[in-house]
Amino acid sequence: MRAFTCDHCGHVVFFENTTCIHCQSTLAFVPELMRMAALSPSTTQEDVWVSTSQPQGQAQAHVRMCLNRNNQGAACNFTTALDGSQPYCVSCRQTRWLPNLNNPRNLLRTSKVENAKRYLFYTLACLKLTSLHGLRAPIFDFLEDLPGHLPIMTGHLNGTITLNVAEADDDERARRRLAMFEPYRTLLGHLRHESGHFFWDVLIDDTQWLQPFRRLFGDERQDYNLALQHHYARGPLGTVDWDPHHVSAYALAHPWEDWAETWAHYLHMMDLMETAASYHVQLRLPGHLASWPPIDDPFANPQLAFEHILQQCVPLTLMLNSLTRSLGQSDAYPFALSTGAVAKLKFIHEVVTAHRLQIAQQS
Ligand SMILES: [Zn+2]
Ligand SMILES: [Zn+2]
Ligand SMILES: [Zn+2]
Repeated sequence: MRAFTCDHCGHVVFFENTTCIHCQSTLAFVPELMRMAALSPSTTQEDVWVSTSQPQGQAQAHVRMCLNRNNQGAACNFTTALDGSQPYCVSCRQTRWLPNLNNPRNLLRTSKVENAKRYLFYTLACLKLTSLHGLRAPIFDFLEDLPGHLPIMTGHLNGTITLNVAEADDDERARRRLAMFEPYRTLLGHLRHESGHFFWDVLIDDTQWLQPFRRLFGDERQDYNLALQHHYARGPLGTVDWDPHHVSAYALAHPWEDWAETWAHYLHMMDLMETAASYHVQLRLPGHLASWPPIDDPFANPQLAFEHILQQCVPLTLMLNSLTRSLGQSDAYPFALSTGAVAKLKFIHEVVTAHRLQIAQQS
């Protein structure tokens, strides 16, 4: 996620911000423009907001706030269509079920989950993979375990992503991460993984990519439930060195899980690179005399080769982990990419790049 600036005063602001802490301007993210805008109420139209400044080459934005802006359970800072046809923004309108919001705990949980979902939306939008680019979008059910009912399983089925909102509780998520011997478990990671299943259906199934997919990831027609049973019966594989072909231990479970794990990892990498590029990061590894050129924003140039992205990303993750260790925290990027995982990431990059170029040609 790139660092944004308040377009009224120029101060750095974050994606979640609703107000600029420097000039107190009201802020909202305009998904159609992919821009954070400082807004003031229109003097002529009710519920319409107008951007207080006009970036070069862009029209002054006239927008409505997402109806969830003042809803504690979503606390959304996205805008929505000016014509009033869509009361909810492009992210919120994809949520179908929420847990009982009369429970204050669920308000906090859903606000965290919806925030992670907006992060997911942002990266997908950078890759031209949203309804704004003519694609169908996943539906989201955010549910809680209830006494007397089957536990809510996080997963994807026929275009719907279900997430157990207990994953928003830090203690519960840490407990599950340790129980599964996972090095990494976050809300955003869950949503990125499940979006991988959704986009397998969109980008791979019944396309020219299906055979190359099978050559790399394996045949997805093998029995899914049986494969998962085998995976869990095998027990935890440990946190590292599970094998040279997969990005995570869970990726061994089934070709679909391998794809979804690799997809999530690809989104992590692209997001990291964009963040670093927006801060104009230029690296020189300790002990090396030559510095690399500044990190490229992979969303600005759809033609960047995956090898180039990887070459810039690996030292970036070393620095990132050094920074978090300096703060007494564990590694923010607890992964080491094997050659097999790199080949799969490269395949995903090729699939997504072909899609991006196709969308660019259409517009
Ligand atoms: Zn400001
Ligand atoms: Zn919204
Ligand atoms: Zn999965």
